[in-house]
Amino acid sequence: MTPEIRQLVEAAREAAKQAHAPYSTYGVGAAVRLSDGQIISGCNFENASYGMTLCAETVALATVNSAGKLRDVREIAIVGGLIKEGAIQGIESVHPCGRCRQIINEAAQLSKHDVMVHCAAAEGDALNSLPISALLPHAFGPADIGVG
Ligand SMILES: [Zn+2]
Repeated sequence: MTPEIRQLVEAAREAAKQAHAPYSTYGVGAAVRLSDGQIISGCNFENASYGMTLCAETVALATVNSAGKLRDVREIAIVGGLIKEGAIQGIESVHPCGRCRQIINEAAQLSKHDVMVHCAAAEGDALNSLPISALLPHAFGPADIGVG
């Protein structure tokens, strides 16, 4: 894991500590690096209705969008694990769900960069780095409807 990726993974781990996950007890953090090096993070935000739950990647990218920087997204790190005794535990790398892959693809197409997705774990050095084009091949996105 390079120092730059480790920095992004640590930011995701820090964000995961704020997860609102009383239903699944599965905390997730995501950290996005922008073209200027800025890191913006998010954590999962569950809801009692379950279906309204927001994933960490979605929260992070919505925050990026709120800052007007969706076209500046370059890479994202994701971590997650079960919350036990106040800590998020897990050594397996966590990959984004299908919905989040679509949301990451939105940023990738608008930024014209194949955003790297660093799938890491709550603990340890597990890492699976893949471009969004590999996680969501043949994606439908802004370009398909003439937005770019
Ligand atoms: Zn998701």
